[in-house]
Amino acid sequence: MIVVLKPGTPNLEIEQLTQEFQSQGLNPEKIVGKHKVVIGLVGDTADLDPLQLRELSPWIEQVLRVEKPFKRASRDYRHGEASTVTVTTPGGSVAIGEHQSLVVVAGPCSVENEAMIIETAQRVKAAGAHFLRGGAYKPRTSPYAFQGHGESALELLAAARQASGLGIITEVMDTADVEKVAAIADVLQVGARNMQNFALLKKVGAQDKPVLLKRGMSATIEEWLMAAEYVLAAGNPNVILCERGIRTFDRQYARNTLDLSAIPVLRSLTHLPIMIDPSHGTGRAEYVPAMAMAAIAAGTDALMIEVHPHPAKALSDGPQSLSPQQFDQLMPQLAVLGKAMNRWP
Ligand code: PEP
Ligand code: MN
Repeated sequence: MIVVLKPGTPNLEIEQLTQEFQSQGLNPEKIVGKHKVVIGLVGDTADLDPLQLRELSPWIEQVLRVEKPFKRASRDYRHGEASTVTVTTPGGSVAIGEHQSLVVVAGPCSVENEAMIIETAQRVKAAGAHFLRGGAYKPRTSPYAFQGHGESALELLAAARQASGLGIITEVMDTADVEKVAAIADVLQVGARNMQNFALLKKVGAQDKPVLLKRGMSATIEEWLMAAEYVLAAGNPNVILCERGIRTFDRQYARNTLDLSAIPVLRSLTHLPIMIDPSHGTGRAEYVPAMAMAAIAAGTDALMIEVHPHPAKALSDGPQSLSPQQFDQLMPQLAVLGKAMNRWP
């Protein structure tokens, strides 16, 4: 349920209402939008009468029920306003969301060694990327495949962060590693395979770094938004949703089916920022540029693109990684479309 306040509602009034809702056990959350303040109420609201709540103050404009099963993630919860996730990086703050410029995340699948991660960071930064991605902990299908260097790779990411000024996005797979990863990452990635790892979602929800939540490979949009709801319900309002391709009947020519319809669908359902990962989405470097462009045309807020200094030698996901030269060529193309969409600085 949301309580929409009239423009200019005094702070004292907001505080008094908040206390009143608190005393009724309604978990009030003050949401400050661009044009209005909304108080979100989550919990036992089924028996409440919106008309009766409205009587509480002349400053209440409307009381509306959020009908969707996801509440805080719902667009209705912010009365239609998009949210922005702002990340502080060494190079300045980066804002991700519907009304912001397009944000590009680039980097290797895995952090392999210091030289390659620093070289990649500098190359993608020079090409215009905003974040460096790279896995220290890798969720691999085979236990015999490279599992990532773990904790030592976190230090390499910290070095790359310092050398490039880029923010770092890296995956956390285990609740036991959340603090360690959060100590160096600017954004914590929860991977597709962990989208419904509820213990992990609660844990990343209880710390203060933003969370990049990748869509499970067979997750419905509603399951994905309910997973985001876990993070939001645990107290972390900064969630970015990343579509990375879903499992369909045909895997012969593309690794996954990149669901670009998720962009307008999410836009109508949620206020959360949207990212598209055409690298895992297609599994093939040659298909990445077309799908990155399509994602911009469909209105994505951010892109995640795998870039490796020597894709043929990569320890993971080489076939879908762009070389730095290919990334250099792609960025100006993204800029042309980004400008046409009014999503480029
Ligand atoms: C990744 O980003 O490297 C990754 C493992 O992605 P996903 O969880 O989408 O497979
Ligand atoms: Mn990968």
